[in-house]
Amino acid sequence: MNTNFTPQGSPLERKTPSSMHAGMSHARKELADWLRDAHAMEVQAEAMLKGQAARLEHFPKLKSRIEQHITETRRQARDVEQCLQSMGQDTSALKDTGGKAMAMMQAVGGIVMGDEVIKGTLAGYSFEHMEIASYTILIAAAEAAGEHEIASVCERILGEEQAMAAWLSAHTGEVVRQYLAREEIPGLDSKR
Ligand code: MG
Ligand code: FE
Repeated sequence: MNTNFTPQGSPLERKTPSSMHAGMSHARKELADWLRDAHAMEVQAEAMLKGQAARLEHFPKLKSRIEQHITETRRQARDVEQCLQSMGQDTSALKDTGGKAMAMMQAVGGIVMGDEVIKGTLAGYSFEHMEIASYTILIAAAEAAGEHEIASVCERILGEEQAMAAWLSAHTGEVVRQYLAREEIPGLDSKR
């Protein structure tokens, strides 16, 4: 019923970068916000995975799979940024997510406890599933907003997250058994 549009520059208009485009639909605004969240998530993922890979010594298969996923994760962050740019979004502030990444690294990457490889596996396995949920949400939001190219980028990323989660699922038992076996040998370092 209300046919009055909020005039540009009105105090009612939120001054967030994602709402600066007049006429931006609600779905598009949410999509942009969630893409920003996904970018921050990928920056965190890269920091976490780099921390794990750098310290792993006795689990070469795990280390090399993580290194492969670091390469994928960097491209994912770039692709999410390009999705935002394709929507006309300002992405200059995206670099400011470094603080969050550092907090995550301290929570996960800085673990110095005896079972570091196990805690890292727990964190990594959980993180991949959070990413799977995030891209599933983004695909639906992108389709709802009519952003089919963004949906297909998110589909590709989702596939990479599912592959990483599946790899971890298939190899976690082996990592745990190797960790426990190394613990049995006196003087052998098993924690990573
Ligand atoms: Mg990712
Ligand atoms: Fe991932």
